Amino acid sequence: MSMRLFETAGLTGIYDKAMSGTRLSAEDGLALYENPNLNAVGALANIVRERMNGNLTYYVRNQHINYTNVCNKGCKFCAFYAQKGGPDPYTMSIDDVKNRLRMHLDVPIKEVHMVAGINPKLPYQYYLDLLRAVKETRPGVHIKAFTCVEIVEIQRQANKPLAEVFADLREAGLDSLPGGGIEILSDRVHMELFDRKIDGAEWMEISKAAAEAGLLQYATMLYGHIETIPERVEHLVKMRALQDETKHFVTFTPLSFHPEGTQLSHLPHPTGDGDLRNIAISRLMLDNFQHIKTFWIMNTPQVSQLAQWYGADDLDGTIHEYEITYKDGEQGNKSQVLTRPQLVELIREAGRTPIERDSFYNEVEATDELHDPVRQAQKSHAPIPLAVMN
Ligand code: SF4
Repeated sequence: MSMRLFETAGLTGIYDKAMSGTRLSAEDGLALYENPNLNAVGALANIVRERMNGNLTYYVRNQHINYTNVCNKGCKFCAFYAQKGGPDPYTMSIDDVKNRLRMHLDVPIKEVHMVAGINPKLPYQYYLDLLRAVKETRPGVHIKAFTCVEIVEIQRQANKPLAEVFADLREAGLDSLPGGGIEILSDRVHMELFDRKIDGAEWMEISKAAAEAGLLQYATMLYGHIETIPERVEHLVKMRALQDETKHFVTFTPLSFHPEGTQLSHLPHPTGDGDLRNIAISRLMLDNFQHIKTFWIMNTPQVSQLAQWYGADDLDGTIHEYEITYKDGEQGNKSQVLTRPQLVELIREAGRTPIERDSFYNEVEATDELHDPVRQAQKSHAPIPLAVMN
């Protein structure tokens, strides 16, 4: 990489830190957000990305279940919950969930991701039955479920200490917690956009309790609404500090805000510059997170392809149904799928090596037509086949 790129961008100080593995400060984070040279910021992030994850880009075969859109929180940035003039209310029965899972039994899905609204009519037993139903229908699958906001509601229904709730949920099948729930760790944004949900301090307490209960968690940041650049940096610094303490976060995913259908529909749509920049700065600031994900549902497959050179080493997965953000703003289009060949092609075309993973980034053995001779040679230390090298 030419030093000239970083010199002309005024980034030699941050380049030196990135090269020596020195932690970036909040001031460095602000400087990266304000730097007009996106390619230089991305190239810096790529140095760190390749040092941590080489040429590999991960993906997972997963399925999302959003079990209810009934919600009493009324977050202003949310287009998912049932409201007048918006989506009709639904709550899946346990049989509905089983049937949804059975629709894809032909696909060797490794992870079921379940998040939903806060429906106060759902009793504690519903959540336990939900987990058990997934494990019964899909034995061995990893269940990533319930944001910290859902955990608060589940504990309220259970009416017992959080540690006991986590023990019950784990016994029923819960394997990890997703990110989300706090959106951005800013009291100002919390008060303006989602004041009926827990605040940042409470979110962090629940996250710590999850870590103490032995659960791993995934972390996110929702950006592009009313938050300021210093608030984004503050979020990254706080997440990094929490990870220093708990070491229980697996991946960080910057999530771009899509205003359509929300109370903030007057705000602009995400841009490619914004999405790539947030991925790159997350990679540079979060030196204690092994993986940075580009969530293609929000960033689009096209931007996600480029993001692999701006710090991202994970494209998420096949998804199947996702009801929270719709493709191209199409309300009601629940089917949002990239097939495995499509994901692999997005990664290969970008010049990266696709690796199918489980929820903890263990490599899943390739057993079908996507058998990659380069990867096989790398794994067996055999010479790479000449036909492939050509
Ligand atoms: S973001 Fe979650 S908690 Fe807030 S309104 Fe939407 S579904 Fe409810």
